[in-house]
Amino acid sequence: MKTFTLNTETELLAVAKEIKSIAKHRIFLLIGDLGAGKTTFTKRFLSTFDRVDEASSPTFSIINEYHGAQQKFYHIDLYRLNTLDEAMDIGIEDYLYSNHYCFIEWPALIQDIIPNEHHVLEFHILEGDKRTISFK
Ligand code: ADP
Ligand code: MG
Repeated sequence: MKTFTLNTETELLAVAKEIKSIAKHRIFLLIGDLGAGKTTFTKRFLSTFDRVDEASSPTFSIINEYHGAQQKFYHIDLYRLNTLDEAMDIGIEDYLYSNHYCFIEWPALIQDIIPNEHHVLEFHILEGDKRTISFK
């Protein structure tokens, strides 16, 4: 496990780049309270790739899809879902097993179907803009 401490949001890009360079898998479970920085991290991570555009997706408030020059990215926020069945109904397995990047907020609902090969990122607010991000 590796823990990064950020004093300001501007340090997030460098952390995203480092995590990109050490990551072995493409599935990232994002753990942390509302406002901890899960979505902001995902945006910063995507910004390190060439020519990433937002694509339309049938469930845009839950799954946001982005297409880059070489790969696709799914930013998945399960906050508003209540059951695994609901996640299955929106085709969650297709995304998880697509071999594209998946960034998943509030993943507890789907823990039983997450492929073994994934990373976990935990976000903590220390005070103000100060955060820690642990990667494993
Ligand atoms: P989450 O997705 O975890 O609910 P967001 O990424 O939507 O959180 O929101 C995080 C908020 O905190 C944003 O408004 C962002 O600008 C702010 N912020 C301040 N400092 C940091 C930091 N060091 N890292 C990430 N976000 C930060
Ligand atoms: Mg979020």
